[in-house]
Amino acid sequence: MDLDIDGVRIARERADLALRPGERQLAGGTFLYSEPVPAGVTGLVDLLGLDWTPWTMSDGGPGRGGAGSGGLDVAATCTIATLRDRAAEAAGQYPGLRLVAPCVSAFLLSFKVAHTATVGGNLCLGLPAGPMAALFATLDGTAEIWTPDGARTEPVSDLITGPGITTLTPGEVLRAVHVPPAGLEARTAARKLSLTDFGRSAVLITAAVFGPVAESSGAEGFPPQLPAPPGTAGATVRIVVTASVPRPVVLRIPAGDHDALDRAVDRITDWYDDPHGAPDWRAAMTRRLTHEVLEELS
Ligand SMILES: Cc1cc2nc3c(=O)[nH]c(=O)nc-3n(C[C@H](O)[C@H](O)[C@H](O)COP(=O)(O)OP(=O)(O)OC[C@H]3O[C@@H](n4cnc5c(N)ncnc54)[C@H](O)[C@@H]3O)c2cc1C
Repeated sequence: MDLDIDGVRIARERADLALRPGERQLAGGTFLYSEPVPAGVTGLVDLLGLDWTPWTMSDGGPGRGGAGSGGLDVAATCTIATLRDRAAEAAGQYPGLRLVAPCVSAFLLSFKVAHTATVGGNLCLGLPAGPMAALFATLDGTAEIWTPDGARTEPVSDLITGPGITTLTPGEVLRAVHVPPAGLEARTAARKLSLTDFGRSAVLITAAVFGPVAESSGAEGFPPQLPAPPGTAGATVRIVVTASVPRPVVLRIPAGDHDALDRAVDRITDWYDDPHGAPDWRAAMTRRLTHEVLEELS
């Protein structure tokens, strides 16, 4: 960004988030300041002045809280480095957080950018290879969104609808992401593939198994007559495909059911096409890596 704007307002309280004409929210600025000024943008509102607590593990965490209590709240302004470090400290107690490390590794960030770029900035950018969408969609995270006159929530898996497109409307602010206790307790797996060793992700597959109770909503390819492998009876593996598709795709597959997985992958038709990988190669690699994570978690 060439900083050809009228100014930056630092938000100190929620009322400061009301955007004036031409204003846009600023978080770490690692993307905004790396691009030309977007058309029509004349000012920025800095969210960091709100001083949100980056990481809050509630008292009623896994195994200790009642229904509806517990879990983790990550503020939108939490930096990628803080997320990585706090998750590393907590992953022994909360196995689902082991997924943070491979997702952070999927970024190509220097030390400086990792300490500046935010979780919310990555989600709101909506890049197909944005690993925060993969992470929080896999852990069944919910986005808390402040609207100009209230708040709403939405599954992170639904937040991004296309390359650079989210459900956020002008003036809406991503406040935080909530990970439920089941997400913190999940067993997880991840695979990433790029055309080159340090290239941008062409395929990112993340997966979690939440235990023996099948998820209630929209189970895909889940014929109840198929026997599940021993020890995983009734378990559903939640597989999230990113980077090879324009927006996160969630597959819910019975543990060990590779035929159901093939049918689910067959239904994906809009493979992403950019210099980081051809669509047919991305499709083939997505199939291979989703089978690997299903095998690992079954
Ligand atoms: C060297 C380098 C490497 C990078 N590598 C990657 C990579 O591998 N993968 C990747 O996905 N990205 C990458 N990026 C892009 C970007 O830096 C990251 O996606 C980063 O997480 C964006 O966060 P930020 O806080 O800097 O966002 P900003 O640049 O501050 O904002 C990005 C966008 O999100 C909006 N926004 C920010 N926060 C909120 C909020 N809470 N509510 C509503 N809107 C909001 C802003 O208005 C803006 O449109 C890279 C950038 C650089 C400079």
